[in-house]
Amino acid sequence: MDALYRLEADKLDIFLQSLGPDIYAPVKTDAIRFQKISSVKEADLTALADVPVKDFFFRQREQLFKFTKGKIATEIKDAPFRIFFGLRRCDLNAVKHQDFIFIEKYKDPYYTAQRKNTLLFGYHCDEALNKYCFCGSMGLEEYHDIMFFDKKKYFLLNPGSKVGQKIVSEAKLKRAGTLKKKDTIPKGTDRLEKKDISKLFENSLWEKGADECLSCSACTSLCPTCYCHEVKDDVKLSDLKSGERTREWSSCQLKSFTRVAGEHVFREKRVDRFKHRIYHQLVYFKERYGVNMCVGCGRCITHCPTTIDFVSLINKMK
Ligand code: SF4
Ligand code: SF4
Repeated sequence: MDALYRLEADKLDIFLQSLGPDIYAPVKTDAIRFQKISSVKEADLTALADVPVKDFFFRQREQLFKFTKGKIATEIKDAPFRIFFGLRRCDLNAVKHQDFIFIEKYKDPYYTAQRKNTLLFGYHCDEALNKYCFCGSMGLEEYHDIMFFDKKKYFLLNPGSKVGQKIVSEAKLKRAGTLKKKDTIPKGTDRLEKKDISKLFENSLWEKGADECLSCSACTSLCPTCYCHEVKDDVKLSDLKSGERTREWSSCQLKSFTRVAGEHVFREKRVDRFKHRIYHQLVYFKERYGVNMCVGCGRCITHCPTTIDFVSLINKMK
Protein backbone atom coordinates (compact mmCIF):
# COMPACT_ATOMS: atom_id res chain seq x y z
CA MET A 1 0.00 0.00 0.00
CA ASP A 2 1.78 3.14 -1.17
CA ALA A 3 -1.05 5.65 -1.71
CA LEU A 4 -0.83 9.05 0.00
CA TYR A 5 -3.78 11.19 1.07
CA ARG A 6 -3.82 14.79 2.20
CA LEU A 7 -5.17 15.99 5.54
CA GLU A 8 -4.98 19.71 6.42
CA ALA A 9 -3.06 20.28 9.67
CA ASP A 10 -5.96 22.15 11.31
CA LYS A 11 -8.22 19.13 10.68
CA LEU A 12 -6.00 16.63 12.52
CA ASP A 13 -7.78 16.93 15.86
CA ILE A 14 -11.24 16.52 14.31
CA PHE A 15 -9.99 13.58 12.26
CA LEU A 16 -8.59 11.77 15.31
CA GLN A 17 -11.49 12.60 17.63
CA SER A 18 -13.98 11.34 15.02
CA LEU A 19 -12.46 7.86 15.32
CA GLY A 20 -13.13 7.27 19.00
CA PRO A 21 -12.62 8.57 22.53
CA ASP A 22 -9.44 6.69 23.38
CA ILE A 23 -6.59 8.39 21.56
CA TYR A 24 -3.12 7.97 23.06
CA ALA A 25 -0.09 10.05 22.10
CA PRO A 26 3.33 10.91 23.54
CA VAL A 27 2.91 13.58 26.23
CA LYS A 28 5.67 15.27 28.21
CA THR A 29 5.20 14.77 31.94
CA ASP A 30 8.20 13.64 34.01
CA ALA A 31 9.30 12.08 30.72
CA ILE A 32 7.69 11.74 27.31
CA ARG A 33 5.32 8.81 27.61
CA PHE A 34 2.12 7.70 25.86
CA GLN A 35 -1.10 8.70 27.57
CA LYS A 36 -4.69 9.44 26.69
CA ILE A 37 -5.19 12.86 25.14
CA SER A 38 -8.26 14.98 24.57
CA SER A 39 -6.58 17.16 21.94
CA VAL A 40 -3.58 16.62 19.74
CA LYS A 41 -2.20 19.89 21.16
CA GLU A 42 -1.25 17.89 24.26
CA ALA A 43 1.05 15.63 22.24
CA ASP A 44 4.80 16.18 22.22
CA LEU A 45 6.05 15.12 18.80
CA THR A 46 9.41 16.87 19.03
CA ALA A 47 11.39 13.88 20.30
CA LEU A 48 11.27 10.11 20.62
CA ALA A 49 9.06 9.11 23.58
CA ASP A 50 11.30 8.17 26.49
CA VAL A 51 8.96 5.33 27.39
CA PRO A 52 7.76 3.08 24.56
CA VAL A 53 4.22 1.67 24.29
CA LYS A 54 5.35 -1.84 25.27
CA ASP A 55 3.67 -1.72 28.68
CA PHE A 56 0.21 -1.20 27.14
CA PHE A 57 0.31 -4.67 25.55
CA PHE A 58 2.98 -6.66 27.39
CA ARG A 59 2.21 -5.42 30.90
CA GLN A 60 5.04 -4.83 33.33
CA ARG A 61 3.13 -6.99 35.80
CA GLU A 62 0.27 -9.22 34.72
CA GLN A 63 -1.87 -11.57 36.74
CA LEU A 64 -2.08 -14.85 34.83
CA PHE A 65 -4.59 -16.49 37.15
CA LYS A 66 -5.85 -16.66 40.72
CA PHE A 67 -6.32 -19.86 42.67
CA THR A 68 -8.62 -20.34 45.63
CA LYS A 69 -9.11 -23.66 47.39
CA GLY A 70 -8.31 -25.77 44.37
CA LYS A 71 -10.18 -23.58 41.85
CA ILE A 72 -8.34 -21.65 39.20
CA ALA A 73 -9.83 -18.43 37.77
CA THR A 74 -8.44 -16.53 34.83
CA GLU A 75 -9.63 -13.06 33.96
CA ILE A 76 -8.67 -11.89 30.50
CA LYS A 77 -10.47 -8.79 29.29
CA ASP A 78 -10.02 -7.29 25.84
CA ALA A 79 -8.75 -3.72 25.93
CA PRO A 80 -11.21 -1.13 24.59
CA PHE A 81 -10.78 0.29 21.08
CA ARG A 82 -7.69 2.51 21.24
CA ILE A 83 -5.63 4.48 18.79
CA PHE A 84 -1.96 5.16 19.41
CA PHE A 85 -0.91 8.26 17.49
CA GLY A 86 2.67 9.44 17.13
CA LEU A 87 4.52 6.14 16.96
CA ARG A 88 7.88 6.35 15.23
CA ARG A 89 9.01 3.79 12.69
CA CYS A 90 11.29 2.10 15.22
CA ASP A 91 8.46 1.68 17.71
CA LEU A 92 6.06 0.39 15.07
CA ASN A 93 8.58 -2.30 14.19
CA ALA A 94 9.03 -3.06 17.88
CA VAL A 95 5.28 -3.72 18.14
CA LYS A 96 5.62 -5.91 15.05
CA HIS A 97 8.31 -8.00 16.76
CA GLN A 98 6.28 -8.31 19.95
CA ASP A 99 3.18 -9.24 17.90
CA PHE A 100 5.26 -11.94 16.27
CA ILE A 101 6.43 -13.38 19.60
CA PHE A 102 3.20 -13.04 21.59
CA ILE A 103 0.56 -13.60 18.89
CA GLU A 104 2.05 -15.56 15.98
CA LYS A 105 4.72 -17.64 17.66
CA TYR A 106 3.30 -18.32 21.15
CA LYS A 107 -0.39 -17.23 21.04
CA ASP A 108 -0.29 -15.45 24.38
CA PRO A 109 -3.92 -14.64 25.36
CA TYR A 110 -2.94 -11.82 27.75
CA TYR A 111 -0.95 -9.88 25.16
CA THR A 112 -3.53 -10.60 22.44
CA ALA A 113 -6.35 -9.20 24.59
CA GLN A 114 -4.45 -5.95 25.18
CA ARG A 115 -3.33 -5.58 21.58
CA LYS A 116 -6.53 -6.69 19.81
CA ASN A 117 -8.57 -3.48 19.47
CA THR A 118 -5.63 -1.20 18.82
CA LEU A 119 -4.81 0.89 15.78
CA LEU A 120 -1.26 2.09 15.23
CA PHE A 121 -0.86 5.58 13.75
CA GLY A 122 2.74 6.41 12.94
CA TYR A 123 4.46 9.79 12.83
CA HIS A 124 7.29 9.74 10.33
CA CYS A 125 10.76 11.06 11.26
CA ASP A 126 12.41 12.92 8.38
CA GLU A 127 15.78 12.59 10.09
CA ALA A 128 17.39 11.09 13.19
CA LEU A 129 15.65 12.40 16.31
CA ASN A 130 18.83 12.27 18.35
CA LYS A 131 22.46 11.28 17.97
CA TYR A 132 21.87 7.68 19.11
CA CYS A 133 19.16 6.70 16.56
CA PHE A 134 20.23 3.98 14.13
CA CYS A 135 16.92 2.63 12.75
CA GLY A 136 18.25 3.05 9.21
CA SER A 137 20.76 0.24 9.86
CA MET A 138 18.12 -2.22 11.06
CA GLY A 139 16.20 -3.11 7.89
CA LEU A 140 12.84 -1.97 9.26
CA GLU A 141 9.58 -2.56 7.47
CA GLU A 142 6.27 -0.72 7.16
CA TYR A 143 3.94 -1.68 10.03
CA HIS A 144 1.16 0.83 10.63
CA ASP A 145 -2.53 1.32 10.13
CA ILE A 146 -1.82 4.89 9.00
CA MET A 147 1.53 6.68 8.78
CA PHE A 148 1.45 10.49 9.05
CA PHE A 149 4.06 12.53 7.17
CA ASP A 150 4.14 16.02 8.67
CA LYS A 151 4.36 18.71 5.99
CA LYS A 152 3.62 21.49 8.53
CA LYS A 153 0.51 22.96 6.87
CA TYR A 154 -0.83 19.54 6.03
CA PHE A 155 -0.16 15.84 6.57
CA LEU A 156 0.29 13.13 4.02
CA LEU A 157 -1.35 9.93 5.23
CA ASN A 158 -0.25 6.50 4.09
CA PRO A 159 -2.69 3.72 4.99
CA GLY A 160 -0.84 0.48 5.70
CA SER A 161 -3.78 -1.82 6.53
CA LYS A 162 -7.35 -2.44 5.40
CA VAL A 163 -8.67 -0.58 8.45
CA GLY A 164 -6.35 2.35 7.73
CA GLN A 165 -7.54 2.41 4.12
CA LYS A 166 -11.19 2.35 5.23
CA ILE A 167 -10.59 5.28 7.58
CA VAL A 168 -9.02 7.52 4.94
CA SER A 169 -11.71 6.53 2.41
CA GLU A 170 -14.54 7.31 4.84
CA ALA A 171 -12.92 10.64 5.69
CA LYS A 172 -13.00 11.38 1.95
CA LEU A 173 -9.36 12.52 1.94
CA LYS A 174 -7.97 13.49 -1.44
CA ARG A 175 -5.31 11.32 -3.05
CA ALA A 176 -1.96 13.16 -3.03
CA GLY A 177 0.65 11.03 -4.75
CA THR A 178 2.51 7.81 -4.07
CA LEU A 179 4.91 6.91 -1.27
CA LYS A 180 8.43 6.07 -2.41
CA LYS A 181 10.68 3.68 -0.50
CA LYS A 182 13.42 6.32 -0.12
CA ASP A 183 10.98 8.61 1.75
CA THR A 184 10.36 6.01 4.44
CA ILE A 185 13.89 5.92 5.88
CA PRO A 186 14.85 8.85 8.13
CA LYS A 187 18.08 10.58 7.14
CA GLY A 188 21.22 10.11 9.24
CA THR A 189 20.08 6.89 10.89
CA ASP A 190 22.49 4.34 9.40
CA ARG A 191 24.98 4.64 12.27
CA LEU A 192 25.67 0.93 12.78
CA GLU A 193 28.32 0.12 10.20
CA LYS A 194 28.47 -3.67 10.64
CA LYS A 195 25.57 -5.77 9.47
CA ASP A 196 26.87 -9.00 11.05
CA ILE A 197 28.54 -9.12 14.47
CA SER A 198 28.46 -12.89 14.86
CA LYS A 199 32.25 -13.18 14.46
CA LEU A 200 32.98 -10.45 17.03
CA PHE A 201 32.01 -12.40 20.14
CA GLU A 202 35.58 -12.68 21.44
CA ASN A 203 36.48 -9.06 20.70
CA SER A 204 38.19 -7.42 23.68
CA LEU A 205 36.20 -4.19 23.31
CA TRP A 206 33.15 -5.85 24.88
CA GLU A 207 35.04 -5.62 28.20
CA LYS A 208 35.30 -1.87 27.77
CA GLY A 209 31.51 -1.56 27.44
CA ALA A 210 30.89 -3.94 30.32
CA ASP A 211 33.34 -2.04 32.57
CA GLU A 212 30.94 0.90 32.51
CA CYS A 213 27.81 -1.23 32.95
CA LEU A 214 26.08 -1.09 36.34
CA SER A 215 23.77 -4.05 35.60
CA CYS A 216 20.88 -1.73 36.42
CA SER A 217 18.56 -3.03 33.65
CA ALA A 218 17.34 0.42 32.55
CA CYS A 219 18.26 -0.61 28.99
CA THR A 220 16.02 -3.68 28.90
CA SER A 221 13.13 -1.99 30.73
CA LEU A 222 13.00 0.86 28.21
CA CYS A 223 13.75 -1.31 25.20
CA PRO A 224 10.57 -1.61 23.11
CA THR A 225 11.48 -5.12 21.93
CA CYS A 226 12.78 -6.87 25.08
CA TYR A 227 10.28 -9.42 26.32
CA CYS A 228 12.09 -11.46 28.98
CA HIS A 229 10.01 -12.02 32.06
CA GLU A 230 9.68 -14.16 35.16
CA VAL A 231 6.67 -16.07 36.38
CA LYS A 232 5.94 -15.99 40.12
CA ASP A 233 3.45 -17.63 42.44
CA ASP A 234 2.37 -15.52 45.39
CA VAL A 235 0.80 -17.48 48.20
CA LYS A 236 -0.05 -16.12 51.63
CA LEU A 237 1.46 -18.12 54.50
CA SER A 238 -1.89 -17.86 56.32
CA ASP A 239 -3.75 -19.53 53.44
CA LEU A 240 -1.60 -21.85 51.39
CA LYS A 241 -4.49 -22.84 49.12
CA SER A 242 -5.05 -19.34 47.70
CA GLY A 243 -2.88 -17.01 45.73
CA GLU A 244 -2.03 -15.75 42.30
CA ARG A 245 0.41 -16.43 39.49
CA THR A 246 1.89 -13.35 37.86
CA ARG A 247 4.47 -12.55 35.28
CA GLU A 248 6.73 -9.55 35.53
CA TRP A 249 9.34 -8.04 33.27
CA SER A 250 12.81 -9.24 34.02
CA SER A 251 16.20 -8.53 32.53
CA CYS A 252 19.12 -10.47 31.14
CA GLN A 253 21.30 -7.78 32.72
CA LEU A 254 20.48 -9.04 36.22
CA LYS A 255 22.61 -11.79 37.67
CA SER A 256 19.50 -13.37 39.19
CA PHE A 257 17.96 -13.84 35.72
CA THR A 258 20.08 -16.89 34.90
CA ARG A 259 20.32 -18.30 38.41
CA VAL A 260 19.04 -21.88 38.45
CA ALA A 261 18.74 -24.66 41.00
CA GLY A 262 21.98 -25.36 42.84
CA GLU A 263 22.81 -21.62 42.72
CA HIS A 264 24.43 -21.95 39.32
CA VAL A 265 24.44 -18.68 37.38
CA PHE A 266 24.86 -19.08 33.64
CA ARG A 267 26.07 -15.55 32.99
CA GLU A 268 28.01 -14.78 36.12
CA LYS A 269 30.26 -12.14 34.55
CA ARG A 270 28.92 -8.71 33.68
CA VAL A 271 30.57 -8.82 30.27
CA ASP A 272 28.66 -12.03 29.45
CA ARG A 273 25.35 -10.38 30.38
CA PHE A 274 26.22 -7.21 28.46
CA LYS A 275 27.19 -9.19 25.36
CA HIS A 276 24.15 -11.45 25.63
CA ARG A 277 21.76 -8.48 25.37
CA ILE A 278 23.45 -7.18 22.24
CA TYR A 279 23.74 -10.64 20.69
CA HIS A 280 20.08 -11.41 21.35
CA GLN A 281 19.13 -8.11 19.70
CA LEU A 282 21.47 -8.36 16.71
CA VAL A 283 22.27 -12.05 16.19
CA TYR A 284 20.23 -14.75 17.99
CA PHE A 285 16.76 -13.40 17.13
CA LYS A 286 17.82 -12.95 13.51
CA GLU A 287 19.21 -16.49 13.36
CA ARG A 288 15.83 -17.87 14.49
CA TYR A 289 13.36 -15.50 12.88
CA GLY A 290 15.23 -13.80 10.04
CA VAL A 291 15.08 -10.18 11.31
CA ASN A 292 16.97 -8.09 13.82
CA MET A 293 15.14 -7.86 17.11
CA CYS A 294 16.65 -4.41 17.70
CA VAL A 295 14.86 -1.59 15.90
CA GLY A 296 17.59 1.02 16.41
CA CYS A 297 15.63 3.40 18.65
CA GLY A 298 18.74 4.12 20.74
CA ARG A 299 16.84 4.26 24.06
CA CYS A 300 19.19 1.74 25.69
CA ILE A 301 21.99 4.23 25.02
CA THR A 302 20.17 7.49 25.78
CA HIS A 303 18.82 6.19 29.07
CA CYS A 304 21.82 4.16 30.18
CA PRO A 305 23.17 5.92 33.30
CA THR A 306 26.68 5.70 31.87
CA THR A 307 25.59 6.20 28.23
CA ILE A 308 27.25 3.05 26.90
CA ASP A 309 27.04 3.49 23.14
CA PHE A 310 27.23 -0.11 21.95
CA VAL A 311 26.85 1.01 18.33
CA SER A 312 30.05 3.05 18.33
CA LEU A 313 31.71 0.24 20.32
CA ILE A 314 30.82 -2.26 17.57
CA ASN A 315 31.90 0.19 14.86
CA LYS A 316 35.36 0.27 16.45
CA MET A 317 35.71 -3.52 16.56
CA LYS A 318 38.13 -5.05 14.08
S1 SF4 B 1 21.34 0.65 31.21
FE1 SF4 B 1 23.56 0.74 30.86
S2 SF4 B 1 24.43 0.42 32.91
FE2 SF4 B 1 22.30 -0.27 33.03
S3 SF4 B 1 22.38 -2.50 32.57
FE3 SF4 B 1 21.98 -1.44 30.61
S4 SF4 B 1 24.03 -1.15 29.71
FE4 SF4 B 1 24.34 -1.60 31.89
S1 SF4 C 1 18.37 -2.73 21.91
FE1 SF4 C 1 18.42 -0.52 22.30
S2 SF4 C 1 18.37 0.43 20.29
FE2 SF4 C 1 17.71 -1.69 20.03
S3 SF4 C 1 15.47 -1.63 20.22
FE3 SF4 C 1 16.26 -2.05 22.26
S4 SF4 C 1 16.44 -0.02 23.23
FE4 SF4 C 1 16.23 0.32 21.02
